[in-house]
Amino acid sequence: MAILKSKPGVDRKQLLRYAWMVLGILALAPPFGFLAQAFGSSTICGNLCIRMAIGSSFVRELFSRTWGVILLFLWLGTTLFFGRWFCSHFCPVGALTEFGSKLLPPRLKIDYARAVNTPLFRYGFLGAYLILPMVGFANICCSYCNFSTVPEFFGAFFKPEMWLMVFTGYRMVSVLLFVFVLGIIATDGRGHCHLLCPVGAVDSIFNILGARLPFTFRERIDLSKCGGCGICEKECPAAAITVDKQAAEIARIDYRRCYQCRICEGKCARKAISIRRL
Ligand code: SF4
Ligand code: SF4
Repeated sequence: MAILKSKPGVDRKQLLRYAWMVLGILALAPPFGFLAQAFGSSTICGNLCIRMAIGSSFVRELFSRTWGVILLFLWLGTTLFFGRWFCSHFCPVGALTEFGSKLLPPRLKIDYARAVNTPLFRYGFLGAYLILPMVGFANICCSYCNFSTVPEFFGAFFKPEMWLMVFTGYRMVSVLLFVFVLGIIATDGRGHCHLLCPVGAVDSIFNILGARLPFTFRERIDLSKCGGCGICEKECPAAAITVDKQAAEIARIDYRRCYQCRICEGKCARKAISIRRL
């Protein structure tokens, strides 16, 4: 079997993405949360919550948390035209657990993207998320939220008095689930993004829709350059790439899964992958 080797050297696009992720944390998570503070909160959970507007509470949220709804539309609009930039570059929830996962050696991690049918799980969860509040389970949806849990856990490092709250009752279950089991232990630290984030699920739908339009930008593979080596398929943390030398399209990206992290770009020795129009 051929040994797959990725392109060596520093990946400047990943360094730039990490810089954006740090900015997202500084803007929307403790201890600074400068953007959240400008809107009267300390994290993305609160006055800037973009999650609650998804579903039957949309009209209420439009009037009570208008800036959160505006941020949601900005998020989804950016995805439609430019791909999932907010999720991969700016969301502090995914960024915190992705950085946290780098503390753990790869052999101790779980590759959820390959172990689970993530699109099926993600859209199944979105369906439950939309339906449960209609039958009286709104509080459960709100309690088990990655947008509130992950920044709150991170914030406890700066406010020790919060530790008791973070490790009490349902909050402890959320911390175990989102920060550890589906966060730090996940291969890319984003198991909760791939499986249990309602914003991520809706965002991926906008990603699929936009990918079909000729004027939108997406991570795309130039098949005239691709040699079918399979490196990108192996390295994609979302298992979004399929390489099959026998197929008419030897390498393709599944936009239900791709969150535009750009890792594949840096791994392709033939520079066949880039963000571009159709
Ligand atoms: S795009 Fe083609 S050449 Fe580049 S890493 Fe993927 S399979 Fe290999
Ligand atoms: S296809 Fe590329 S940009 Fe999309 S998730 Fe996979 S590695 Fe990231």
